[in-house]
Amino acid sequence: MADAPKLHVVPAVKPTAKEQTALRIKRMPRPDGLLQCNRCGSRTVLNTENGVTVKNGRRRAGTKIDKDVCADCYKRGVIVPMQTELKPID
Ligand SMILES: [Zn+2]
Repeated sequence: MADAPKLHVVPAVKPTAKEQTALRIKRMPRPDGLLQCNRCGSRTVLNTENGVTVKNGRRRAGTKIDKDVCADCYKRGVIVPMQTELKPID
């Protein structure tokens, strides 16, 4: 245990202008039933499907992988389920 790294308490940092804007958007009252990301405040929903086929011009559904996740967080590699009210992220 002699080589264990030393841990320090870091003072709280004020949120940046971008973080303050995201916080304000997340806390704004939402229209009833609107899906919104509780992590970044985005309202863009993403659904992914595997194995979609097109036969004779008609699309046949595949297996649903992700349903109603935040598209903006997904682009950053984080899967966040969209919710209709502000709750802590699971
Ligand atoms: Zn998000």
